Amino acid sequence: ANRIVVKIGTSSLIYPDGKLNLKTIDQLAFVLSALCNQGKQVILVSSGAIGVGLNQLNLTERPTSISAQQALASIGQSKLIMIFNQRFEHYGQQIGQLLLTHDVFDYPKSRQNVLNTFEKLLQRNVIPIVNENDSVAVDELDHKTRFGDNDQLSAIVASRTNADLLIMLSDIDGFYNMNPLKSPDAALISEVDQITPATFEVAGGKGSEYGTGGMFTKLKAAERLMNENRQMVLANGREPKIIFDILAGIPVGTWFNPL
Ligand code: ADP
Repeated sequence: ANRIVVKIGTSSLIYPDGKLNLKTIDQLAFVLSALCNQGKQVILVSSGAIGVGLNQLNLTERPTSISAQQALASIGQSKLIMIFNQRFEHYGQQIGQLLLTHDVFDYPKSRQNVLNTFEKLLQRNVIPIVNENDSVAVDELDHKTRFGDNDQLSAIVASRTNADLLIMLSDIDGFYNMNPLKSPDAALISEVDQITPATFEVAGGKGSEYGTGGMFTKLKAAERLMNENRQMVLANGREPKIIFDILAGIPVGTWFNPL
């Protein structure tokens, strides 16, 4: 794969106690910088703005009001990008920030503009770091402005930028035949070549405390990409160096391969 989108979930960036997982962030910066040095084009989609915002204000619970969440996203996003900038700089890697809303892709003109920006950044060996613009997109206008979650956003970005592979990093080793948090007998599925209603049955509801999508939105993302003949792999983001294994063809995680 030459053009890769990597999506990292809140659950990999933030410890259950709310603290930022700097070890993971640093390793992610190291790995993605190394890939750029090997001539690969990398786009990072990162969640975590609201989680980091909570931590910044020493809050433990996500507020219910939308405006409070949007304010937290604003606080958290600037902190998050500052840390990314610092860590990537350490490895000599330039980054650029893109905060997107759904309507950017809905209108041909803004879509073309943002795709041009992606191309320019990638040509110059810069890693675009993408997040949903949670401070602008509003829940009530769900279908119009929000992607809903970064799982969808990462699939849309992979699709629109014509990426070969989406690497989705979560707090779990892959897709299991049952929710592993509830069933100790759950077994990892190493390859999925078709997503059916039965696949979604296995996905269950919302996942971790700080994550938003759970497995459902990850399967949706995989479905979208497989329909376009693209690949997705779901793997554990605790140690982002797993990306090296993924690209080396070492069997880890769950591969979603189009038939
Ligand atoms: P992220 O923050 O990385 O996007 P989420 O917490 O939203 O992650 O989703 C991952 C969670 O989905 C897992 O930790 C697990 O609890 C839950 N889950 C539910 N069903 C499954 C399944 N069949 N296989 C794997 N994980 C599952």
